[in-house]
Amino acid sequence: MRTVAVIGAGTMGIGIAHTFAQSGFRVQLIDVSKEQLENGLHTITANLDRMVSKEKISDSDKENTLANISNFIDIPTGIKNADLVIEAATENEAVKLKIFKQLNDHCSSQTILASNTSSISITKIASVVENPERVIGMHFMNPVPIMKLVEIIKGYNTSTEVTNSITKLAEKLGKIPVTATDYPGFVANRILMPMINEAIETLYNSVAGVSEIDSVMKLGMAHPMGPLQLADFIGLDVCLSILEVLYNGFKNQKYAPCPLLVNMVQAGKLGLKSGEGFYNYSESKKAEYVSSQFL
Ligand code: NAD
Repeated sequence: MRTVAVIGAGTMGIGIAHTFAQSGFRVQLIDVSKEQLENGLHTITANLDRMVSKEKISDSDKENTLANISNFIDIPTGIKNADLVIEAATENEAVKLKIFKQLNDHCSSQTILASNTSSISITKIASVVENPERVIGMHFMNPVPIMKLVEIIKGYNTSTEVTNSITKLAEKLGKIPVTATDYPGFVANRILMPMINEAIETLYNSVAGVSEIDSVMKLGMAHPMGPLQLADFIGLDVCLSILEVLYNGFKNQKYAPCPLLVNMVQAGKLGLKSGEGFYNYSESKKAEYVSSQFL
């Protein structure tokens, strides 16, 4: 594999693009929004600058990484010659099905099609592709350049050959792959999201404030980040979408999203990416926060 198309230049897409480009792959980054693409490149450059200043990479590593990335605003052009497509668009089933239908129509039948979805069924996504054995979940963690885990999700029809190939690829990127089968939330979010939801419920019930809840989990449970801070970092809209997939998928009340989370998303308070969630993030605070925590 030499060329990887990444669909979506949001929180995850830019991290995935950064990681592949730094490992020497050609990356074709695609987003429907020009602004997202521009912001994405700006963030990748800022993160690379930070890595240079911390002497983790050299100036020429930075230049080579940036030279490996090109931008596209439409899928048929952006996926040309790609050996692998990784979809990292908005966590919404209809959006993903539409994208995979386009991939089915425009990609070579040899191209492996992966989704970075946090929770949506890979089997469902693969149902709009004529040869579903090449569709797989490749679930990176945020921030992608730092986090070691890649959850690999085998859909009902995913072939062993494709699973092996994506597992080897994850290792080549310096990641540690863990394989899961295709049930709502897979492993990571089936465990993480109920905890985040319960933290929001604890706040909603006025048991304690934001910093108290986060302090309990950081100092008492040795979590590097409190659950409310983590929810802001993931994106509250993404958390809500994942909880809805768990709730609808298992038909179990324990996954019902907390009304406070629903309200915050409706009010546009999405966490770090919108500048406000459980915490407030000015532009300078955002950069400082990302820098101190992650790179
Ligand atoms: P995001 O909201 O930050 O970015 C989504 C991007 O997709 C936006 O830039 C949007 O313009 C773009 N997009 C939407 N429709 C598109 C289309 N048809 N074609 C091209 N681009 C399109 O979302 P995110 O947090 O980066 O999440 C992306 C995926 O990664 C989701 O499936 C999410 O569940 C998953 N994920 C998120 C996290 C996290 O911490 N945020 C972690 C792991 C996995």
